[in-house]
Amino acid sequence: MATLFDHTLGRLIEATKHLDLDPSVLEKLKQPLETTQVRLPIRMDDGTTKTFTGWRCRYDDSLGPTKGGIRFYPHVNAGEVEGLALTMTVKCAVMNLPFGGAKGAVKVDPGSLSNTEIERLSRAFMRSCANVIGPNRDIPAPDVGTNETTMAWMMDEYSTIVGKRTPAVITGKPVVLGGSLGRDDATARGAYYIIQYKADTLGLEPGATVAIQGFGNAGKNFAKLADALGCKIVAVSDSKGAIHAPAGLDYGELLAAKRRGSVINMAGSAGVSEIPGDALVAVECNLLALAALENMVHKDNARSVRAYVIVELGNGPVTPEADEILEDMQVKILPDILANAGGVTVSYFEWLQNCQGESWSLEEVHERLKTMMEMEADAVWAYALKRDITLRKAANVLALSRIGAAMAALGTDRFFKD
Ligand code: NAD
Repeated sequence: MATLFDHTLGRLIEATKHLDLDPSVLEKLKQPLETTQVRLPIRMDDGTTKTFTGWRCRYDDSLGPTKGGIRFYPHVNAGEVEGLALTMTVKCAVMNLPFGGAKGAVKVDPGSLSNTEIERLSRAFMRSCANVIGPNRDIPAPDVGTNETTMAWMMDEYSTIVGKRTPAVITGKPVVLGGSLGRDDATARGAYYIIQYKADTLGLEPGATVAIQGFGNAGKNFAKLADALGCKIVAVSDSKGAIHAPAGLDYGELLAAKRRGSVINMAGSAGVSEIPGDALVAVECNLLALAALENMVHKDNARSVRAYVIVELGNGPVTPEADEILEDMQVKILPDILANAGGVTVSYFEWLQNCQGESWSLEEVHERLKTMMEMEADAVWAYALKRDITLRKAANVLALSRIGAAMAALGTDRFFKD
């Protein structure tokens, strides 16, 4: 079965058709710069020792120090970490950030550990990887199963190792330790700014109907912003199932239902019915927001999509086969490498603030994020129009042209031949 790595690399190979690119650029991008595997023996609370496996992959550093999250997740392996690190490489290039891409992981179910065990594991991961990580080398951030507290422990451990307080080594920290305001909803907000800016081009009118798959950090914050924009949220799902309300769902009630365990707790209220979780993508709506897992829209369900715009808040929710079907159906997709890049962009702001000893107001973070999302959305749209290709292809072409330019400036085969 094709993996996220295969999908991401395949999309880059496709993008080379639209560029005069030195072949050595793609050749280099076929493999990561380095993947470190570490053994993490942890003293458990009962006195026994348990050994976990961790990875840190720095995929490519042509554009700058590498950047990417660390996930604590039971079903992860080196290949998946490398696929996610390649995606980060492309995403940072689309946003024109001075970063390459990276990703890290520990194979663990954090729910099975106590807080003190998670602290020991976080510190052990940083100790084992400290030689590849650094504020000008590789800068981690939170991901699935990790959070601001995990980042605080890792920053503290790194600072102890190097003998000086180093907040810029990691982003997504608590604000009191140098975290940035506005990081919590940055992913959803970045997508929201693009949708607001390109609403006319996308054919989205005030009061547009929205279906949202996934009601975690990305999906919940997107629901809040869409609601504030005057959109009508007609369906929402999470891992337990989905609900449908053609007349619209109340955001406050959705939040309350989720706090009680799942959005499906709203089923049975006036006008709200429960539907199978996998029926959400087929709900009649204008905008479908995918904020759950990978491969949720695939060749077998792509034809059932009724929305005319899809926004990928999650990573890799639409497979390449589904891409082709949706392109034929003229459904516009705001691709993950642009649409959910608000998170890494505010992480970049956090790193900048730490490097400069500054602390920006929430208004400043929002203003800068809006400017950057609109600027790179314009760049992607311009490539798409010029070459008559989809936004995803255009974003990949843009990323590859930037990575290629950096590699050329560092000296490629062509440099030596000319
Ligand atoms: P999260 O764990 O907070 O939320 C995930 C949500 O998806 C949960 O509500 C869960 O119940 C739901 N879900 C799981 N399986 C589902 C299914 N089969 N059908 C419907 N819903 C399902 O995670 P998150 O941080 O919101 O991340 C979601 C996606 O966005 C991931 O792909 C992640 O990599 C991506 N992403 C997140 C950020 C961020 O800043 N949080 C940044 C970039 C990308």
